[in-house]
Amino acid sequence: MGYCHCKSCRRWSAGPVNAFTLWKPEAVRIVQGAENIGTYTKTPRSHRKWCMTCGGHLFTEHPAWGLIDVYAAVIPDFPYRAGVHVNYTETKLRIADGLPKMRDVPKEMGGSGASVSE
Ligand SMILES: [Zn+2]
Repeated sequence: MGYCHCKSCRRWSAGPVNAFTLWKPEAVRIVQGAENIGTYTKTPRSHRKWCMTCGGHLFTEHPAWGLIDVYAAVIPDFPYRAGVHVNYTETKLRIADGLPKMRDVPKEMGGSGASVSE
């Protein structure tokens, strides 16, 4: 769990950061309204899902990473606790919370894995 500060997330979320929660696909189950979920394949690495009824953004599938980002805002009862900020060099909203700040993303995800100052 963490915050992504990249431009792409800012535009998609219409906010300064995207609070993400990453899950293995088998841990995510649509319990209602699956027929109303639209997909926008931004890139082969990001399949954005949104509600065709209300227009709300739901989650993003990242098949290359084997992960699904369920936006923290759509699971309000989940005990969200951010552990990291990613793509912090692109930030428009510095957050001095003492959590690690990554230049981009972890090495395992194809990034530099480098940290930057708060
Ligand atoms: Zn992002």
